[in-house]
Amino acid sequence: MKVLVTGGAGYIGSHAVRALKKAGDEVVILDNLVYGHKELAQGEPLVVGDLQDDALLRKIFAEHRFDAVMHFAAYAYVGESVENPAKYYRNNVAATLSLLDAMREAKVNLFVFSSTCATYGEPKEIPIPETHPQQPINPYGASKLMVERILQDYDRAYGLKYVSLRYFNAAGADEAGDIGEDHNPETHLIPLTLDAALGRRSHITIYGTDYDTPDGTCVRDYIHVSDLAQAHVLGLNYLANGGKSDVFNLGNGNGFSVREVIETAKKVTGKNIPVAEGARRAGDPARLIGSAEKAKAILGWKPKFAQLETIVSTAWKWHQRRFAPKPQTA
Ligand code: UDP
Repeated sequence: MKVLVTGGAGYIGSHAVRALKKAGDEVVILDNLVYGHKELAQGEPLVVGDLQDDALLRKIFAEHRFDAVMHFAAYAYVGESVENPAKYYRNNVAATLSLLDAMREAKVNLFVFSSTCATYGEPKEIPIPETHPQQPINPYGASKLMVERILQDYDRAYGLKYVSLRYFNAAGADEAGDIGEDHNPETHLIPLTLDAALGRRSHITIYGTDYDTPDGTCVRDYIHVSDLAQAHVLGLNYLANGGKSDVFNLGNGNGFSVREVIETAKKVTGKNIPVAEGARRAGDPARLIGSAEKAKAILGWKPKFAQLETIVSTAWKWHQRRFAPKPQTA
């Protein structure tokens, strides 16, 4: 298949590009490189541009006969979405509408969408099933939920076939160590902890130690990015084989606490990682764990890298390569 991958120079998108290539698919990446990195496009055809550029979208769809679109391009900083919701609704919702309309015009009707567990809001049940109520508590989650709703209506009216994949905490990096996470600013626990291991920051701060969890710190469901990427390929094949539009959680089904992540990082890196205990971060639920039984049953998804240690080791391999100070040569 020939697939347009928006956001393919980003963290999860670049891993999906790799998984598509391994499956024998052809890829064109569209990325505005605001948060993406040219190197992560791995030499695949890259169109640098914005989804809000209708003329560009028309041109891309006229130049290529795509079978499907995988849509990763989005802003994903929860805090920023609260400060600047306009940016999130414009980029995550309005830009997606432009993309969907360009697809309609070009008669491309298979769509794999990056959604998020942030569409659920405060969990009322753990592990969270797909049928859990969706009451997002920030504009980021709301913007993704709006797209999920739009997709339902586009299916009914225009026959668009989609899978919405609701990710839990994407983590780790491809085993080869040449693509991985590089957010600027970085806000995520694992890369920040590895930064502290590399001495790029003085310590890692635990956001809250008084949660109602076994060790008092938040519990999250960390899912390896290559497993996520593989689920996208399976989702696409499912649609190509006539599967009906649907939504799937992608998680590990296991929860790990912030302290467990830091302890694992100490073990994996062999470094001393100074830890500070800080206040809770606004909007963080105590526990977020997803049930991915549906993706396993219907898509045949089998996560390969379920161990936290594997997730952190692959992240460390990439992190050192990307961020360790380069030795002086002269
Ligand atoms: N966290 C932390 N210190 C940090 C960054 C994150 O204690 O410097 C915690 C955060 O409160 C959450 C977990 O680590 O419970 C995972 O946060 P992250 O930002 O990686 O992902 P999120 O769950 O927000 O998508």
